[in-house]
Amino acid sequence: MRRPAGHSGGFHPPVLKRLGQHFLNDERVLAGIAAALDLEGHETVVEIGPGRGALTRHLVGLPRRLVLIELDRALAANLREEFADDPTVEVIAADVLDANIAELAGGPYVLVGNVPYYITTPIIFHALQAPMPLLAVFLVQREVAERMAANADDEEYGALSVTIQALTEPELLMRVPPSAFTPAPKVDSAVVRLRPRVRPLVPPETAAGFQAFVQSFFSMRRKQLGTIVRSLEGVDTESAREILVAGGWDPQARPETLSPTEFARLYAALRPTP
Ligand code: SAM
Repeated sequence: MRRPAGHSGGFHPPVLKRLGQHFLNDERVLAGIAAALDLEGHETVVEIGPGRGALTRHLVGLPRRLVLIELDRALAANLREEFADDPTVEVIAADVLDANIAELAGGPYVLVGNVPYYITTPIIFHALQAPMPLLAVFLVQREVAERMAANADDEEYGALSVTIQALTEPELLMRVPPSAFTPAPKVDSAVVRLRPRVRPLVPPETAAGFQAFVQSFFSMRRKQLGTIVRSLEGVDTESAREILVAGGWDPQARPETLSPTEFARLYAALRPTP
């Protein structure tokens, strides 16, 4: 039996702050997240951290199959009970970081989650491993969403912007205030949609290496590219300059001026795949 959106979910176990539990209670935001998935009815949707099921209730019935991955065993048990009569819903009590999401989905899938903020970035990179979801919509800390979508030279532009944009095209869809949650978090949130690129800028199998490469540039973000390459590659100043000039890069430029495409090109030049 399907419960209407807004159903309370019954008995609530204690809120576990260490699991980043902030439950969304704004029906407009919940409906907006569900709509952002653009579901047609034939998909498998994986929801990360369904919690008390507020978003889940907006999703049931929309896809062909809905897989819920929840770490809190008491909440997972509640969801299992609530959706016991719905054969399209499957509840997995597990840590999403230990789960093989694509395997649980059993084929192409769409990903959604109001994810716990203490592990947002690890969850997103875990979820973007090959094979990537068809589409992913996350409710995250607003600052993280802005960093994902930032362009070169923006104040928020950094390693997260480059690595996310190398694999996906992020869109910031809506801002969500603390009052939309119980208990209210201390920070603003935002809904971000990640559309995997048809042609990723780096092969998804090399994404972890690319991420580390980009992070090492931004850990020296005030330095010039020539100095960074000299230090990372263990070469002298002249050799670093030659490498950069040969590829058309200005050795005096700083990392925040390089677009994701340029970073991907630099990665291919310095770490060619055999
Ligand atoms: N989706 C619900 C909502 O919108 O009200 C709950 C969102 S709450 C911010 C995050 C949820 O993720 C919690 O239910 C929490 O127990 C769960 N969670 C935390 N860490 C997790 C992990 N490593 N794997 C799976 N779920 C996790």
